[in-house]
Amino acid sequence: MNRSALFWFRRDLRLAGNPALSAALAAGKRVVPVYIHAPEAEADWVPGAASRWWLHRSLSALDGELRARGSRLIVRHGPAQQALDRLIAETAADAVYWNRLYEPAILARDGDLEQALQQAGIEVHHHNAALLFEPWTLATRSGAPYRVFTPYWKACLRLGLPETIAPAPQRLPSVANDLESLPLDSLQLEPRFPWDAGLQAAWVPGEQGAQARLQAFLAEAAIDYAENRDRPDRAGTSRLSPHLHFGEIGPHQVVAAIHRTLGDVGPRSTAGAEAYLRELGWREFAHHLLFHFPHTADRALDERFDDFPWASDFSDELTAWQRGQTGIPLVDAGMRELWQTGWMHNRARMIAASFLTKNLLVPWQQGARWFWDTLVDADLANNTLGWQWTAGCGADAAPYFRIFNPVLQGERFDPDGLYIERWVPELAGLPPQHRHAPWKAPQAVLDASGIRLGRDYPQPIVDLKTSRQRALDRFARIRR
Ligand code: FAD
Repeated sequence: MNRSALFWFRRDLRLAGNPALSAALAAGKRVVPVYIHAPEAEADWVPGAASRWWLHRSLSALDGELRARGSRLIVRHGPAQQALDRLIAETAADAVYWNRLYEPAILARDGDLEQALQQAGIEVHHHNAALLFEPWTLATRSGAPYRVFTPYWKACLRLGLPETIAPAPQRLPSVANDLESLPLDSLQLEPRFPWDAGLQAAWVPGEQGAQARLQAFLAEAAIDYAENRDRPDRAGTSRLSPHLHFGEIGPHQVVAAIHRTLGDVGPRSTAGAEAYLRELGWREFAHHLLFHFPHTADRALDERFDDFPWASDFSDELTAWQRGQTGIPLVDAGMRELWQTGWMHNRARMIAASFLTKNLLVPWQQGARWFWDTLVDADLANNTLGWQWTAGCGADAAPYFRIFNPVLQGERFDPDGLYIERWVPELAGLPPQHRHAPWKAPQAVLDASGIRLGRDYPQPIVDLKTSRQRALDRFARIRR
């Protein structure tokens, strides 16, 4: 009889385009699919509430896909080393297969595990499923990691974007009936009280949900992506981020689909393909940076920011920001979209993050932690990059003097105030031209709309102009 192998699902919760799974099957092993719940391995960054919500559903969907092919998912509690040792003993497996992850704590854990398994005579095979270019495959001419996006992405494009994908296996080996699997509920991923109605309405976690989302994007929005990607009032982006984070779809699959639909990148490329693939490039760059600068999840890459004079007493401002009650409509719209759906449009993320770190001078780590808990796509590499970029303290960051003006941004990217109408409905009665700055609306307009500021919607918690100047003064201090 063929020997068994464990296939260890981590953040690659799919059957198609899964290189380590293909390798295990190609080796002719009786593959036993396992998931080990070991959040403690992620050190300080255990998955937040929205991520856990997603994971529960994604694991349930994966189990369904496996069962449809004659297999099933074996769920165990960590730590990973103990769980794998027990599973090896129970299945007489002689090999373990997995796809690589790149966060510092997980890399360290996986390195130790690999060594221990090999010492015990177990074969270890790991592959790349999550990135187009693993962080160590690109370096500048001097051999250093890239710190600037454009040359990094040009180097990627010179290598060519890989897009080979294996189809999902049609059948899988069965798993012995007596092999214990814990009920998913025992992982306690689901919310204890039901706050998740908005997430349920917005998302279908799992490989099929990811494919449906990709197909909808290709059919409806991809062609206009370059024009619409910055418009929070339009459904102009792919919303694939949580699916990509959990590996329900891989970037190789997305690249292949974009090439098929929008054309190649190169002289004949379309603006939509180029713009979209470039965003996937930012995801690659984020992983490159976190791998080479592992301290940046908690500390600024730009060391001058170690001494930045952030505000010291900010709890009221932080709470207003988290609740979408700052009195700045575009910031509040983004924060409420996040709270209700677990996702926020990229432009709104930049504006909300700029407002927190610059107008309110709250340390970027506070915002990153809130996003970590509330985003369904919370991703250590992308979140770190997004916050450090906006705060001006990371690689290739927005210059310190770039302080988004949420009113001008709103007028430009949400010109009819539709994003505000949707997420800040108490302002929906205002004519569109006043929705981004209700405090500037003439009293007669406010009266006619039945809105009293301070009662129906807050007055701004800071003055945009003076808080901008205060931030510029503090940034000037660290520049010296
Ligand atoms: P699309 O526009 O359709 O882009 C396609 C894919 O490219 C995305 O799914 C994502 O994987 C990747 N991508 C797009 N923009 C970026 C970017 N700026 N940086 C890195 N990858 C990108 N993204 C996360 O996935 N997880 C996070 O935790 C996260 N936190 C962020 C925090 C801040 C402060 C900011 C400014 C941005 C953050 N982003 C994060 C990046 C970006 O906002 C989201 O990836 C994007 O909004 C997801 O929506 P989409 O899938 O429709 O993107």
